[in-house]
Amino acid sequence: MSAKSLARIIDTPSPHWVGDGFLVRPLFADLAFTNAVSPFLMLDYAAPVAFKPSEKPPGVGPHPHAGFETVTIVYDGEVEHRDSAGNTGVIGKGDVQWMTAARGVVHEEFHSREAAKRGGVVSMAQLWVNLPKADKSAPPAYQDIRDADIPRVELANGGGVARVIAGALDGAKGPARTFTPMNVWDLDLKAGASITLPLSEGENLILPIFHGAVRVAGKTIGAGKVALFEPAGDSVTIEALEPSRVLLLSGRPIDEPIAAYGPFVMNTRADIQKAMDDYNRGAMGFL
Ligand code: MN
Repeated sequence: MSAKSLARIIDTPSPHWVGDGFLVRPLFADLAFTNAVSPFLMLDYAAPVAFKPSEKPPGVGPHPHAGFETVTIVYDGEVEHRDSAGNTGVIGKGDVQWMTAARGVVHEEFHSREAAKRGGVVSMAQLWVNLPKADKSAPPAYQDIRDADIPRVELANGGGVARVIAGALDGAKGPARTFTPMNVWDLDLKAGASITLPLSEGENLILPIFHGAVRVAGKTIGAGKVALFEPAGDSVTIEALEPSRVLLLSGRPIDEPIAAYGPFVMNTRADIQKAMDDYNRGAMGFL
């Protein structure tokens, strides 16, 4: 195996609120919506925040998405989802919601009613995954992936655990159905771990560090930062300097133009205009 080389360390961006429910940092910073991170588009990470008990769940009301997929991973608390394709669900700690917006969907994202009443800590990540042009017109879909359905792979020398959400590691196959080849592995690393993971030649590799600190390619990378690698090479070695959570994202780049405008990600400005028109005339449905 040959190690992928480090291209860049992305610094921790400032946080902003999504609705009144999620204080997120957009971890890809200026590389979001560029081919450098393809097939991924964007990653918001909400570090743990304690919420007071409330009868009115915090979150974000009805809004559209089109041309890509949203992947929500809950680390603490509960997130409740409802969309115009008729899908609803509450996901809790360790659960993942993989929503394919494709030709367009309207949804809302709130803390669950029950969790809001209790109050408490909420932490989550939302990853946006691009679709190839040919699949942007697919019907919307919704995968409700429970923690119990996500295989856990013990890492070498007791280094920790990888939860395989998408892709495959050591014969364990992630439950998420994806349109293009990718790995989404949620790594929980012990202090002192040194692990080498097999990847594919020519695929992008992005390592967001949610908490802790790791060493890769001779550099120390702390919480809130992202290591971006060159596509060449077929492995990565990660040393954990303290207990760390790392979301390993790798995948075959979608080599097509990206036109992004708010909640729509298409190939051209004309496609964006069409998505906006579709939304405005109600073709993405209603809540
Ligand atoms: Mn949304």
